Amino acid sequence: MARLRKILVVGGGTAGWLTACYLAKVVNAKAPGSTDVALVESPRIGLLGVGEATFPSIRGTLSAIGLDECSFLARTGATFKQGILYRDWVRSPGEPGRSEFFHPFSLPNQRSGGQELLPYWLLGMAPGDMAFAEAVTLQSRLVDGNRGPKRSADADFQGAMNYAYHIDAARVAEVLADHGQTELGVKRHLATVEHVSLDEQGNIEHIATREAGRLDADLYIDCTGLHGKLIGEAMHSPFQSRRDVLFADRAVAMQVPYPQVDAPIPSYTMASAQTAGWIWDIGLQDRRGVGYVYSSAHSTKDEAETLFRQHLGDAAAGIEAQHIRFETGYRPEHWRKNCVAVGLAGGFVEPLESTGIALVELGAYLIAHLLPGDTDDMERAARHYNQMVVARYDRIIDFIKMHYCLSQRRDSAFWVDNTMASTVPETLQDKLALWKHRPPHRLDFVSDLEMFQVASWQYVLYGMEFRTELEPMRTAYPHAEEAQREFRMIQQVAEHALRDLPGHRALVEQMVQRSRTRGGRFL
Ligand code: FAD
Repeated sequence: MARLRKILVVGGGTAGWLTACYLAKVVNAKAPGSTDVALVESPRIGLLGVGEATFPSIRGTLSAIGLDECSFLARTGATFKQGILYRDWVRSPGEPGRSEFFHPFSLPNQRSGGQELLPYWLLGMAPGDMAFAEAVTLQSRLVDGNRGPKRSADADFQGAMNYAYHIDAARVAEVLADHGQTELGVKRHLATVEHVSLDEQGNIEHIATREAGRLDADLYIDCTGLHGKLIGEAMHSPFQSRRDVLFADRAVAMQVPYPQVDAPIPSYTMASAQTAGWIWDIGLQDRRGVGYVYSSAHSTKDEAETLFRQHLGDAAAGIEAQHIRFETGYRPEHWRKNCVAVGLAGGFVEPLESTGIALVELGAYLIAHLLPGDTDDMERAARHYNQMVVARYDRIIDFIKMHYCLSQRRDSAFWVDNTMASTVPETLQDKLALWKHRPPHRLDFVSDLEMFQVASWQYVLYGMEFRTELEPMRTAYPHAEEAQREFRMIQQVAEHALRDLPGHRALVEQMVQRSRTRGGRFL
């Protein structure tokens, strides 16, 4: 029996620093005699540097590691994100009908006793043919009115609406690096891993770096990004591609200025569907981050850049574009022997719905809670960890595929191919078949394995105009009047909230200002 004494995180991107900070906090690395948490990052190999939209779980993670929200906003240029606006996903541009829908982060309101409004919406009882998300939560109205999700005086990481952030990934990594070292006891080595040595059992024995010599640990966390230096190159844990389901495998990205310094900042990610993929548009405090995610089987690099620049117009003039390759897929064995991969080293799902950093948070959380007290239990912990992570990936892939396969677009090979049944996983086909006759229910999901809860599936499903024909046995809905009152109430509360909540840019500026008057340090 041997106690786990040393953890070494390899890689200093968002994955490396978030994981190091989270683990250092959980094991109390700062205290003498506790488990040692160190991080080694290369001064020569850069970060990927994209990854600007987060998931609401980020608030819990930042709070858990002891950051304060105003300083976080001030030091990273971050803004608030209340959901995702999907443009041109339902049908091709110019066709009659709704062209966009919103996936809000706040849950649908419910009738008294926790009963859902959804059946009543399906029966057409919401006022004025409202879209599902508009009918059941005020968040759609608030983002249309350019309101923030909270008041600046609200407690850190809490607000009237559910929210995440838009971030500058490189600045977040810097802030986490500073916080990890000064507040949480993470030891940092600036060095490039050149070689990984295994012992007779196939465990990592040590890693060799040019600048810092040999480094060893009981557990190695591979956060080297797409390189997968430890888990792939040394441990040979295979990567399983899911490009047969999610075709996007390239991106062309840039950072563009606002037309004027006080331009309004949308508090949602805009995802505009295109002929071979989609374009993200994200507003930070002082610039926009934009990118075209596309399938190389359906567009060349030059075609993609041309389409992207046409979409951006003058905003992109004279700005160089960054081209990025990736692939949707994952390593079924994220954790092999004494090495576990977190972040891009373990896998990636194309960036629709922003699951990259949320999967990093999940990895850190699972490692922290499944961490074996005894190094002899490493393989038992690994088996369980791998099952949990694979289940998450498969469910995320189903959820993202649903955005594509429900589309009525047939204007390009990309959309035609996306709706072919052979590209839709059976697990998703089963769900969609069931939901033709009844709406999604929380019992369709095992919540510990899901990133997206039932409300998200409902928002996207009905945003994409999926039809659920309620069976006769389910149409005896006796609370129609109460439901209609609730629909009206949501709109009335929205009117109040539009007056009460600050504009998004004003909210961010107030919080940044508060951080400055407090001295701008972390608590
Ligand atoms: P990286 O950022 O690549 O960091 C790797 C680190 O490893 C670096 O510090 C590097 O120096 C170090 N390293 C590499 N090799 C060595 C070595 N030999 N020795 C020492 N150090 C080494 N996620 C989201 O949540 N939201 C989004 O909106 C989003 N958009 C994305 C868009 C695109 C096009 C892509 C491709 C990804 C996107 N992601 C998004 C995913 C997100 O970028 C990553 O999940 C996140 O940045 C974590 O990256 P990472 O830390 O694993 O890798």
